[in-house]
Amino acid sequence: MEWCVSMPKVELHAHLNGSVRDSTLLELARVLGEKGIIAFSDVETVIMKSDRTLHEVFKLFDLIHILTTDHSTVTRITKEVIEDFASENVVYLELRTTPKRNDSIRMSKRSYMEAVMEGLKAVSSVDVDYAPAGLKTNTFNGTTRKKLYVRFLLSIDRRESTEAAMETVKLALEMRDSGVVGIDLSGNPIVGSWTTFLPALKYAREQGLCITLHCGEVPNQEEITAMLDFLPHRIGHACCFEKENWRKLKSLKIPVEICLTSNIRTETISSIDNHHFADLYKAKHPLVLCTDDSGVFSTSLSGEYRLASSAFGLRKTEMFQLAETAIDFIFADDGVKEELRAIFEVATEKLH
Ligand code: 5GP
Repeated sequence: MEWCVSMPKVELHAHLNGSVRDSTLLELARVLGEKGIIAFSDVETVIMKSDRTLHEVFKLFDLIHILTTDHSTVTRITKEVIEDFASENVVYLELRTTPKRNDSIRMSKRSYMEAVMEGLKAVSSVDVDYAPAGLKTNTFNGTTRKKLYVRFLLSIDRRESTEAAMETVKLALEMRDSGVVGIDLSGNPIVGSWTTFLPALKYAREQGLCITLHCGEVPNQEEITAMLDFLPHRIGHACCFEKENWRKLKSLKIPVEICLTSNIRTETISSIDNHHFADLYKAKHPLVLCTDDSGVFSTSLSGEYRLASSAFGLRKTEMFQLAETAIDFIFADDGVKEELRAIFEVATEKLH
């Protein structure tokens, strides 16, 4: 299924620190091992383990953050992650990350995001469009090359306080000219409560930012109902919905970011045959295939398309259409949507 790689694709649910190459993590771990800060062999075993429960995944993120959270490494991983998506013909990428504060290395949420922006500007394998109305593009040598649209979502971690969540939203508002288009709520779903984040999320929406929520990774029906009632622009996962919430989701037509490999690997869904993709697809519910954490779950967006095609018996044209409809759910402006539609039109001509 070479076409899964060559067809243009839209990625709307990718966490920066979950998308880091294993080779980079091992290289960083080796350096910290040599300094005696961590035990390299223990960390190597954890990084290379392929199946993890959702609970173990969050422990792994704590480890990844030890390896990656300094300004120059944040810049490096941002560049690599964007180039990796570009290499498999992702034409529009919404990359999400949690701005982090670490006083011991003089990192503020703002300086963390500045390091991310440095990484984006350092991308050299494609031209990157990252700001409203194509204001800013890192074009090399004036040549016309493959173009990737990148926009950012700032994540609120469920461990954070109302104040910290508000700080992230204010930063997102200040960074709109640098391609920040929305806010994500993520982090361990059994930690924190919805009402803690609500004031910041409401404020974000009032100020015109788009919102996506990790919703229904665990069977907390009360929270799922409250999240749906908030009317987010999109939700991620939607795994553990009971009947009434499922009905609500479908009637509200809130687009769902589907992460097949992530859901199977973390055992949130027991097997691909039981995945809710099939039901949503059949019901023509708005949905988009995404990677979630391509590094942590050893996947790629092409891999997710390949998996959906084989597991649910979808042909090349249907997969192409699925990729193209994702344009409707992006958080960037209508101008970008038009340009993406033109890219898909050219690709459709080649398809037949
Ligand atoms: P970062 O925001 O540090 O760039 O990316 C990693 C973070 O994204 C994790 O610490 C976690 O907060 C969030 N994340 C990554 N994958 C998942 C997931 O599958 N579910 C949830 N709820 N959060 C995730």
